[in-house]
Amino acid sequence: MNIHEYQAKDILKSYGVRIQEGIVAETPEQAVEAAQRLTEETGTSWHVIKAQIHAGGRGKGGGVKLAKNLEQVKDISSQILGMTLVTHQTGPEGKLVNKVLVAQDVYYPGESETKEFYLSILLDRAKGQNVIMASTEGGMDIEEVAEKTPEKIIKEWIDPAVGLQGFQARKVAFAFGLTGNAFKEMVKFVTNLYKAYIDIDASMFEINPVLKTSDDKILAVDAKVDIDDSALFRHKNLADLRDISEEDPLEVEAGEHNLNYVKLDGNVGCMVNGAGLAMATMDIIKLSGGEPANFLDVGGSANAQTVEAGFRIILKDPNVKAILINIFGGIVRCDRVANGVVEAYKNIGDIRVPIIVRLQGTNAAEGARIIDESGLKVYSAVVLKEAAEKVKQVLAEVNA
Ligand code: GDP
Ligand code: MN
Repeated sequence: MNIHEYQAKDILKSYGVRIQEGIVAETPEQAVEAAQRLTEETGTSWHVIKAQIHAGGRGKGGGVKLAKNLEQVKDISSQILGMTLVTHQTGPEGKLVNKVLVAQDVYYPGESETKEFYLSILLDRAKGQNVIMASTEGGMDIEEVAEKTPEKIIKEWIDPAVGLQGFQARKVAFAFGLTGNAFKEMVKFVTNLYKAYIDIDASMFEINPVLKTSDDKILAVDAKVDIDDSALFRHKNLADLRDISEEDPLEVEAGEHNLNYVKLDGNVGCMVNGAGLAMATMDIIKLSGGEPANFLDVGGSANAQTVEAGFRIILKDPNVKAILINIFGGIVRCDRVANGVVEAYKNIGDIRVPIIVRLQGTNAAEGARIIDESGLKVYSAVVLKEAAEKVKQVLAEVNA
């Protein structure tokens, strides 16, 4: 689960990590009030208005702007609120901005310069260890740094049996070239960030940039976190931070039916039981010249209700030109699934896309007979290759 920058910063603050202070606002008037309060609390006279969406790259996309007085706070927040922000992480359709974070300007000039760093903690699955990634190239696109100057990213793996060691935090601070108070602050920053990462069961916590201010304070200017969905049951307060408006509506609906659905961009919808078979089915669709419109695993206990729910979700995707149902009857019997398909088809009515059904396993022949005799525009196939051929054929008909 992803959360917003302002929520991630609240978590950091509660772990003693210094942050760029800010107040979230949903209207330009609230933004002005927030700016006034921040000035009282922090003494800042300039403010940064930051779009709150679940995607990075907001700065480049025009979603992060500096305001030098209250009038600009109002103008900039009215401009950002309600805009569809497009960044390299949102896809071309962009994301609607419903909230802005009004933050204190922390880049004020001083005797020594401000510096931006990159710091993240994530799970290295191959090593089975958490890894701290650090780079002096903060504020930049880290993918670009990784591609062009990989030597500028240092990695520090953490043994899960002993946890983060003091020398490791110092190694990071040293790699940043820090000394004196800034060095001490950075060690504390890394240590507390790691503690937060572990406690909330995050799989990624990224601070880009971490800022060294001109008076040698270290603080988080941005915060991006990914919390392990499987661990949310033990973090009730974190689960409440979920913002459904940031998620794909079809994926949200599928989740309500306990369907494992991932929306994709293709034209052939698919409904399969079992994740492995679902992946193989997507391959078959591609091999026959189509592109999968989704991944959908209806689970081992597919019945009429799950089949119908799956159908409805697939049909809501306007790109879908054909649907391939591929069910292996192991625990579930093919005749039951076939009845489910026929029933769902009748209940939904007006299904304009051709449907190819491939049932294999227990009572497969009976299932095929039910499909064939239903009188509906449903094609049945026995072997996967045959199903792929039918997909090719119906796509050709649709495109003709
Ligand atoms: P992202 O683009 O989505 O990663 O959003 P960030 O929170 O990282 O902000 C983007 C950029 O805005 C940062 O890299 C900074 O250069 C700039 N920025 C953020 N906070 C301030 C601030 O307080 N003052 C100034 N002048 N610039 C800021
Ligand atoms: Mn950032």
